[in-house]
Amino acid sequence: MKFYNTLTGKKEEFIPLEPGKVKMYACGPTVYDYFHIGNARTFIIFDALRRYLKYRGYDVTFVQNFTDVDDKIINRAREEGVPPGEISEKFIQIYFEDSETLGIERADIYPKVTENIDEIIEFIEELIDKGYAYESEGDVYFDVSKFEDYGKLSKQNLEELQLGARVEISEQKRNPLDFALWKAAKPNELNWESPWGAGRPGWHIECSAMANRYLGETIDIHGGGGDLIFPHHENEIAQSEARSGKPFANYWLHVGYLNIDNKKMSKSLGNFFTPREIAKEFDLENFRFLILSAHYRSPINFSRELLESAKNGLDRLYTGKNNLEYLIENADDKDPTVDEEKWLENLKLYKDRFNEAVDDDFNTADGIAVIFDLVREINTNMDEKTVKQTLQEAYNLFMELTSVLGLLSKKEGILEKDIEKLIEKRQKARKEKNFELSDKIRDDLKEKGIILEDTPQGVKWRRM
Ligand code: AMP
Ligand code: ZN
Repeated sequence: MKFYNTLTGKKEEFIPLEPGKVKMYACGPTVYDYFHIGNARTFIIFDALRRYLKYRGYDVTFVQNFTDVDDKIINRAREEGVPPGEISEKFIQIYFEDSETLGIERADIYPKVTENIDEIIEFIEELIDKGYAYESEGDVYFDVSKFEDYGKLSKQNLEELQLGARVEISEQKRNPLDFALWKAAKPNELNWESPWGAGRPGWHIECSAMANRYLGETIDIHGGGGDLIFPHHENEIAQSEARSGKPFANYWLHVGYLNIDNKKMSKSLGNFFTPREIAKEFDLENFRFLILSAHYRSPINFSRELLESAKNGLDRLYTGKNNLEYLIENADDKDPTVDEEKWLENLKLYKDRFNEAVDDDFNTADGIAVIFDLVREINTNMDEKTVKQTLQEAYNLFMELTSVLGLLSKKEGILEKDIEKLIEKRQKARKEKNFELSDKIRDDLKEKGIILEDTPQGVKWRRM
């Protein structure tokens, strides 16, 4: 298995620290609001990656944090006149609800900042003891000039960073790039006691402290959206490696951005969607399918058309599943037309092709293409005369590969009665000479894997 590693800028063979085990950490949501479909992309990718690693035989421990201490949470709490904990608890519950509708399985551990304050304080104390951090008027800063490798993830050196920095100049810092590990409490603000007075952790330190607590000093895979490479992940590396003197994460995986109209989603541009908004019109499994149909590193330019075409693709998979279920139920073993042995061999080839595709830097897009090939071959070459056992094997493989991606969890696809209904509607349109509509119905069905044939006996349909 290979991954493109942001740290080395290369595709590399994946070798976990301990054979057969994977320690994986992904940066989770700041829980102050509903998450948007860009966040959803990143969450879906790491969920699917974890499923795939398990399917390939690894014992995976997956940690995803909740950032439950943050300015955005504090501000919202203030606006609503409630304690910050009420806001974060509410949005953690909403995170679980929404991620479930997106087919995301629960992580093994969901650490929260508020439950790791002691670990964070200890971590910062060690950094101060080792000379990597300094206290200044109740704040504590990481001294980037002390960490030689600073910039290695984002491939920038200190000088370049300083030139490009838009960090506010602060009297309290030795270097504008130094970042806060601990922030002194402002009046009436959420705070904890510490050796430096009352305050709260900076953002970056939580991931270093929690990854260390739950997974150890060195982990296999660290992930997040591409926006986190700098400064967040760069700072995580600096903190963790300064403290332990060991590599923090061996493989850094970053998910491409989900944009709208080639622009970043933002509230001010009014192009901001949540999964809940999408769910008013589309089953969110279609969104999951859309995400996995693209390579995780490529940007996605989200649009309604893209979602509609994803829906057609997913419908075709459901059609393939229904077709197999129908055949299994009606199989008549008496006159087999399919050479069973050859088929079993053939199925194995499909599985190998799928693994080979996805092993190559988690290319789910190519993996899905292999699943479509399999469906096509089943629809062309298998029928009621195929031996039931062979059909069952084909079904098992099809379900195994789709469930690795967390797809086809629902029962229905396009049902026969719906196909018949659409054919009737098309006949009516033709009688009324509404050829635009009748063509559209035929094309839509084709997208879902249903072919219509006009014969002297009337319209017949078959699955592609
Ligand atoms: P946040 O709650 O902003 O910390 O983000 C949670 C996760 O979503 C992080 O891994 C981000 O990198 C990721 N993320 C944020 N916006 C996008 C986007 N438009 N596309 C893909 N991932 C994103
Ligand atoms: Zn993080």
